[in-house]
Amino acid sequence: MSTPPGSSDDVYDVIIIGAGAAGLAAGLYAARSRLRTVLLERLGVGGQLGLTEWIDDYPGFADGVSAADLTIAMENQAKRFGLEVTYDEVLSVDLTDKVKVVTGAEATYRAKTVIIASGGQPARLNVPGEVEFQGRGVSYCAVCDGAFFQNQPLAVVGGGDSAVEEGDFLTRYASQVTIIHRREELRAAKVLQERAFANPKVSFLWNTVVERIEGDQSVNRLALRNVHSGEQSTLEVGGVFIFIGYRPNTGFLGEQVTLDVNGYIVTDEAMRTNLPGVFAAGDVRQKVLRQITTAVADGSIAALSADAYLKEHW
Ligand code: NAP
Repeated sequence: MSTPPGSSDDVYDVIIIGAGAAGLAAGLYAARSRLRTVLLERLGVGGQLGLTEWIDDYPGFADGVSAADLTIAMENQAKRFGLEVTYDEVLSVDLTDKVKVVTGAEATYRAKTVIIASGGQPARLNVPGEVEFQGRGVSYCAVCDGAFFQNQPLAVVGGGDSAVEEGDFLTRYASQVTIIHRREELRAAKVLQERAFANPKVSFLWNTVVERIEGDQSVNRLALRNVHSGEQSTLEVGGVFIFIGYRPNTGFLGEQVTLDVNGYIVTDEAMRTNLPGVFAAGDVRQKVLRQITTAVADGSIAALSADAYLKEHW
């Protein structure tokens, strides 16, 4: 007879928090190590994979792969080896004792080790109109919302991989996409830049910031300012997509795990945090490159480190 989750004698070997690429890879490696593992996810499996449509930079797929297909394959692969996936939102954790306690909205979970793979969420511009018009012309997900803007002019804010890639993607729907960047040089990978520069529907506004998002029922225009000249202007748009980076999801951790100045979890090379038996993987971790490849690598290492910890301490 199996013990219901949340009862006091039900202690998993591993709890993984977050089912993005890092969490799913950790789940695969933990399950293949025959560790009793539950992966907790609040929304949907895939994490930020759910915010994009097509993946061209994950090795092994010569023609690229759909983000949805890759997510499903990763989940099924891990489940094939026994990974348990449970939908619950983690509200708080107590990670300091030998048995870790993770409190979700639906149940309480206990484990000998925890892998935090909770990723991040889109950064906000924090300008007037942003909150007011969210869902009415302000979006953080081109795949989710792009189709609402058929033949309308759109703006994209940011100069990183997300802004340039998603700006290019939005031209499937939009009449014109203006990428607004606060500098005159993009941060995005060269191959993404080349694609955007070659797209006749994409134009750029350099050294420019959005000061206000304005409209009536929905977004109609952006109030802009040139950061060098101070010159103000207006851009008529049907919507604005904001891609100015991510903020790590660490609010549920309290003060227990050491974070860097930007709020990312500090780990060593083995994905160990400051707490014994607690590991972190993927975008939530302080690191130099946030990609699916590095998320998957982190998750694999974290699971094997958890296995090593269990062998040594339990
Ligand atoms: P990012 O690389 O951090 O870029 C954020 C961009 O937004 C930068 O251009 C930054 O300007 C700008 N920005 C930041 N704060 C701003 C503000 N308050 N106002 C105006 N502009 C602001 O974020 P990302 O593009 O979301 O990418 C996140 C991570 O995911 C990166 O590691 C990226 O490589 C990865 N990613 C990869 C792919 C891919 O490989 N296909 C796709 C998407 C994301 P500055 O340049 O001036 O700092």
